[in-house]
Amino acid sequence: MMPEMDGFELCRELRRRPELQSMKIIVLSAKSYDFDRRRARELGADVYIVKPIVTDTLLASIDEFVSEKMTLTYWGVHGTMPVPGPTTLRRGGNTPCLSIEIGGEPLYIFDCGSGIKQLSDHIMRSGQQRFSGRIFISHTHWDHINTVPFFARLYVRGNQVEIYGPYQGDLTIARAIAAQMEGVYFPVTIREFGAHLVFRDLREETLDFGLVKIDTMLLKHPGSCLGYKIRCHGHSICYITDNELYLPSDPRRDQRYLDRLTEFVRGADLLITDTTYRDHEYPSKVDWGHSCVSEVADLAARAELKRLHLFHHDPDRSNDDIDRKLDETRVHLSRLGSKVECDAPAEKSKIVL
Ligand SMILES: [Zn+2]
Ligand SMILES: [Zn+2]
Repeated sequence: MMPEMDGFELCRELRRRPELQSMKIIVLSAKSYDFDRRRARELGADVYIVKPIVTDTLLASIDEFVSEKMTLTYWGVHGTMPVPGPTTLRRGGNTPCLSIEIGGEPLYIFDCGSGIKQLSDHIMRSGQQRFSGRIFISHTHWDHINTVPFFARLYVRGNQVEIYGPYQGDLTIARAIAAQMEGVYFPVTIREFGAHLVFRDLREETLDFGLVKIDTMLLKHPGSCLGYKIRCHGHSICYITDNELYLPSDPRRDQRYLDRLTEFVRGADLLITDTTYRDHEYPSKVDWGHSCVSEVADLAARAELKRLHLFHHDPDRSNDDIDRKLDETRVHLSRLGSKVECDAPAEKSKIVL
């Protein structure tokens, strides 16, 4: 919208000059449309910041944008149902949600369990005027979608949110989210959302967002459940929950599936994965769609990961139980000769890649 030459043409002109190849280009624009964002990228811009800008934090934002980092924050690490109270104080008792910040990109959010309320509050406190995000739902079990209505940015006009979930035939992800907000269950319907929403049902595929690529894989869990691999700046993070690996003695164990999953996560900088049970807890929970320590350790060792994060903890288990689960996983990994760094992160903990 500038006179004579617009920002897109200027980007193109600058990128034509070999001596300026290593220069970063930041576009500041009042247009928040995804089309303009993509166009800027295509023409060589590194970062696209939507006005109005917050002057106090502009320099810090630019630093963040050009740093080529991925910052992951956990907002909920438990599975099945929220478990508040003294036994979960250290790691928090919320159900799955995590976010990944990448300079100049919409916020990437994985799952909308009760943890997303904390993310919502965090965004509100930041004073950010416009919000754009991409939400990836692993599957439509309650603990992964039931806090969508408490993500406050969805109600604000001018915000842009894309919501992706697994293809389930007639039950689209849009329908699944709208249905849980119908009158019997919730006082506000999906029609109250003011943000511009785009829904998409995914199969096994690769999504190309330019700087960021996301691969999907169907997981072993009742119904359709997708695992995600997010790739950017030469790093990769895999989010694989909910997922059942089965024990080697179980005829339901599917070697072909395990081989595919191993290849899917191979060499990842970080695998966040369903480790709901310790081994002695698992035999009474077989076929519930979740995994135990020894099989997760085995997968991590085979796939030569850099880091492994245990995730989706059983609601009946305390933080001390999770400590024991973590110790057991480390013992398994060292027996397998694996050097994978292993942890069981708490809510609000961050990891920067
Ligand atoms: Zn779950
Ligand atoms: Zn589930």
